[in-house]
Amino acid sequence: MAQHFDYICLGAGSGGIASANRAAMRGAKVLLIEAKHVGGTCVNVGCVPKKVMWYGAHVAEALNLYAKDYGFDVTVNKFDWNTLVENREAYIGRIHEAYGRGFTNNQVNLLNGYGRFVNSNTIEVDGEQYTADHILIATGGAPTIPDIPGAEYGIDSDGFFELKQQPKRVAVVGAGYIAVEVAGVLHALGSETHLLVRKHAPLRNFDPLLTEALVEAMATDGPTLHTQSIPKSVIKNSDGSLTLNLENGNQLTVDSLIWAIGRSPSTNNIGLENTQVELDAKGYVITDEQQNTSDKGIYCVGDIMSGGVELTPVAVKAGRLLSERLFNGMHDAKMDYSLIPTVVFSHPPIGTMGLTEPEAEAQYGADSIKVYQSGFTSMYTAVTSHRQACKMKLICAGENETVVGIHGIGFGMDEILQGFGVAMKMGATKADFDAVVAIHPTGAEEFVTMR
Ligand code: NDP
Repeated sequence: MAQHFDYICLGAGSGGIASANRAAMRGAKVLLIEAKHVGGTCVNVGCVPKKVMWYGAHVAEALNLYAKDYGFDVTVNKFDWNTLVENREAYIGRIHEAYGRGFTNNQVNLLNGYGRFVNSNTIEVDGEQYTADHILIATGGAPTIPDIPGAEYGIDSDGFFELKQQPKRVAVVGAGYIAVEVAGVLHALGSETHLLVRKHAPLRNFDPLLTEALVEAMATDGPTLHTQSIPKSVIKNSDGSLTLNLENGNQLTVDSLIWAIGRSPSTNNIGLENTQVELDAKGYVITDEQQNTSDKGIYCVGDIMSGGVELTPVAVKAGRLLSERLFNGMHDAKMDYSLIPTVVFSHPPIGTMGLTEPEAEAQYGADSIKVYQSGFTSMYTAVTSHRQACKMKLICAGENETVVGIHGIGFGMDEILQGFGVAMKMGATKADFDAVVAIHPTGAEEFVTMR
């Protein structure tokens, strides 16, 4: 006979874990099902290992670019890729253990195995059936690989985290967060890195100030950027190297190829055909604003949600709010998908929230917005021969000059944005920003001193 639960969460990634723990804290009997490692993409092959690699890149930059001008006579004998990888994986192991302790404390039942819907309230794992009044789909996504000859010679972001050796020459194909972050890390750690984008720039839908500054930073000290470059085939050479034949007629030979052209939802093999859950044309789950799918009692959060925002903290927040609604009487609880701050761990990092300038113009009209901008050399690099720019922008709308967009690229921007995010979410105006005394000398102070 099937075991019955109040709540089953299919997928122990960021969204599933957050929702399962919160539901259990509110007294629900919870089953959390995961086929691989707990923590999903973020902890195992995403945000966490990426940020460790980014910090590794930071150390490399400090040693190679800045130490000398700060008076240090440093000789680096070698960089050992495996030491970094081993320490990174040990750290992830400790996160797994912490999750385990959390599940025990909250009395969440964790089941390791691949779950599929048998019907709308039953999930089967390894031949055993589990039923629940409420079921959350939080199965996340997986990297997309292009359909071209030889594509299989490349790896994806999961493969990047499995690399046992640092590639000497590497091509990263794609123009989004992952391509920019992975290419930046590999370049800083010493690989000859090529970033191939199919249009004119990476992150081309970000505010133009950010896109342009990133391209400038790459030209000064970053991966080699190849624009209008679309691979049409990949050939494996006898020495193991890979040659990319591009649609523009160019060729590029590297030791390693990383596809980072986007991700697809993991919804095609979980038995959704046995439910009434509706998917959009790309396979994402259609939900209403309270995470309900079209099948009563089945919900969805995270990267598989149609029209969602593919960010860990978004899945976490949505998952927790759903559990508050289902198991804590907060009937109106719902995720606010507007004004979400986000950071790209590029070199230098980007922080952005709200409307880009073109979006603000389209929404309010060019005459109703005012744009404030600032550009300077980050102080950390100003005393060195490797100067790095910081560029910041505030976009304000209406007579009150409500801040509707905040964008920055430069040293520390990854940590600067969060607090300004609070202000923006509260509806702060330019005058509110100006009313705050600047903290000197920081990069962040520019946001409260712009004219
Ligand atoms: P994205 O969707 O962000 O970017 C992929 C980009 O690759 C597309 O926007 C497109 O840009 C380009 N592309 C698409 N198809 C092709 C193709 N066939 N050939 C060449 N280029 C192509 O995907 P990512 O995989 O980078 O990231 C997935 C999501 O994960 C992100 O949206 C982000 O939300 C999240 N993420 C967040 C991070 C963070 O918070 N720091 C870090 C990593 C991921 P174009 O149209 O310009 O060519």
